[in-house]
Amino acid sequence: MSISDTVIVGAGPYGLSIAAHLRAADLPFQIFGSTLESWRAFMPAGMVLKSEPFASNLWDPGRRFTLERFAEERKLPYQHSGRPLSLADFLDYAEWFRQRAVGEPNPARVQRITGGAGEFTLEFAGQSPIRARHVILATGHMPFRYVPQELAGLAEPLSFHSTRIGDVRAFSGRDVTIVGAGQSALESAALLHEAGAAVRLIARTDHIIWNPAPSAKQRSFIDTIRQPESGLGFGWRSVAVCELPQVFRRLFPAEKRHRFVAGSWGPTGAWWLRERFENRINTMLGGRIRSASPAGSRVRLVVEQPSGLSEIETDHVICGTGFKVDMDRIELLDSSLRSSIAREGAAPLLDAHFETSMAGLFIVGIASAPTFGPVMRFMFGAKHVAPVLARHLRGTGAARASPAVGPLSRAAK
Ligand SMILES: Cc1cc2nc3c(=O)[nH]c(=O)nc-3n(C[C@H](O)[C@H](O)[C@H](O)COP(=O)(O)OP(=O)(O)OC[C@H]3O[C@@H](n4cnc5c(N)ncnc54)[C@H](O)[C@@H]3O)c2cc1C
Repeated sequence: MSISDTVIVGAGPYGLSIAAHLRAADLPFQIFGSTLESWRAFMPAGMVLKSEPFASNLWDPGRRFTLERFAEERKLPYQHSGRPLSLADFLDYAEWFRQRAVGEPNPARVQRITGGAGEFTLEFAGQSPIRARHVILATGHMPFRYVPQELAGLAEPLSFHSTRIGDVRAFSGRDVTIVGAGQSALESAALLHEAGAAVRLIARTDHIIWNPAPSAKQRSFIDTIRQPESGLGFGWRSVAVCELPQVFRRLFPAEKRHRFVAGSWGPTGAWWLRERFENRINTMLGGRIRSASPAGSRVRLVVEQPSGLSEIETDHVICGTGFKVDMDRIELLDSSLRSSIAREGAAPLLDAHFETSMAGLFIVGIASAPTFGPVMRFMFGAKHVAPVLARHLRGTGAARASPAVGPLSRAAK
């Protein structure tokens, strides 16, 4: 079995952005994964991106394939911010980017990664294994789906994570209870309500936080200085978190970084969602689920609120309860390889190049957020990761050769 230099596992925003950088640097690589699978298969149709258009780019080194360029080429309206981007348009953009900057990822699913220290073996179902010196895990947030303990014992379809909603029309006429107060919970509630479901939302918080709508007026110079805009919102703190992930890693001890990541950019709703939610969705604030049990084909919930306990029967409970990074959930890594990787709490210990303590194994995206900060939970973070990895791999003397991803679309040449 010959050995590849670099294998990227995952063809989401991070995997594609890294691939675009390696390709432009003429570094050999293979990329595996179904393009934008988390967005195509696990986000509800009709969804709108929370990130503003300027923060919804995939990243190539020359910035030739931005969302703005795509809109220009397709003669679509584009605004830096204040004009939300639909999931459908984002997927079209990602496909356009892939064709021009990356080529064709191999859609095979990696089943297991074994080995270590610059010599890994990747196994597939129905395909021969391959070996690689460097493996970049860009497998995204799906392994980290979090379901609260009280609901973990209920089987689908009584209860499931919001990434499993699929077609909202299937819930028309059903009674649905959503748990959570973040964008995913709030937008799922609006979409299900609009599809004809009877929706209630249970949230621990005593009020829903809505992000402010961007001002229709041109911002003044003073406002721009006082509250500059970043990929994660307004203010100097956001700018620092967005633009200085290496400083974040260097400056703060692990415990402080983890606390900051867990406690910042918490659950909020996008400004454009507010009117689709308020006065439409039955909302139980300050609510905690004390127990959940099957009741025939339904679920019986006991909910505690400041006003007391109430009992609810509902057809489905949907957990819009987000994601928690935990190395033990990366089952793709063989258990002996996983257990030999150093950790910071439940997260992988990463150096400045996103490399784990196992030489040659890199982890990017949400799993790197405890190290590099909240920006890594969003695709904006890929703008930092991709050049760092390309520089680092070039420095390791990765042989120059054609990447195994096929030709680029003519427009890219
Ligand atoms: C409902 C929702 C809305 C969101 N909205 C936004 C937003 O508006 N803006 C924003 O910036 N972020 C948003 N996010 C976060 C967003 O998902 C991440 O920013 C982004 O997807 C991270 O990209 P990624 O490449 O790390 O992972 P992903 O997009 O999850 O991609 C993972 C890739 O890995 C592949 N893969 C996984 N396992 C394997 C395997 N074993 N073998 C081969 N391939 C594998 C998958 O096929 C996929 O190609 C949202 C998240 C959710 C859940």
